[in-house]
Amino acid sequence: MASNSPDQSIGVLFSGGLDSGILVGTLAREGRAVVPFFIRSGLVWEREELRAARRFVRAVASPRLAEPVVLDLPLDDLYADHWSTTGKEIPDAASPDEAVYLPGRNALLVVKAATWCQLHGIAELAIGVLGTSPFDDAHDRFFENLEAALDCRPANPIRLARPLAGMDKTQVMRLGRGLPLELTFSCLSPVDGLHCGACNKCAERRRAFRTAEMDDPTRYAARVCNAEENV
Ligand SMILES: [Zn+2]
Repeated sequence: MASNSPDQSIGVLFSGGLDSGILVGTLAREGRAVVPFFIRSGLVWEREELRAARRFVRAVASPRLAEPVVLDLPLDDLYADHWSTTGKEIPDAASPDEAVYLPGRNALLVVKAATWCQLHGIAELAIGVLGTSPFDDAHDRFFENLEAALDCRPANPIRLARPLAGMDKTQVMRLGRGLPLELTFSCLSPVDGLHCGACNKCAERRRAFRTAEMDDPTRYAARVCNAEENV
């Protein structure tokens, strides 16, 4: 029987979305003791994300998968009039992926969750960034430097793992086959608890299922008819 000692546990940053959900579910299927972290920063879509994160974890129903640990990291003072806190001028389906960049995002999330891990004897924190991410704070050098900065106390070692970094979106989606992906949530502008169907992240979600040749079980509030639908 596998040990349940804290040093074999792994923390995972979990937004409730596809990539981090597949990471959480895959690690749980591998028998790891998983502690998911949901960071609450006051962004407009977080209520639905947190609801999805909790539903997903319960549906995976692995005895070694913990309920999400919710950590508050208010950013309204920092982001001020940013679309992520106002909900105005949300990047739509036609916007480039760079439009959804959130300043300092990965550094802020990692420092909060990694510190929790260090305080609770967890030596590894995973984040579901893909190798195809266009953002500077998703690449090797950023994480190597961040890990070195966090790892300065020998009594509390922490390794930052990126198990999906060698994969593209299609590979990640196929890794997630059999997981309750219908319970994940990835939308910047939820409508009555549903995916809006019109934002940048909804477009990315549709494209992910389509490119992986998997049925998309998501209920969208609106369909978007544009050229991308036919790609
Ligand atoms: Zn949306």
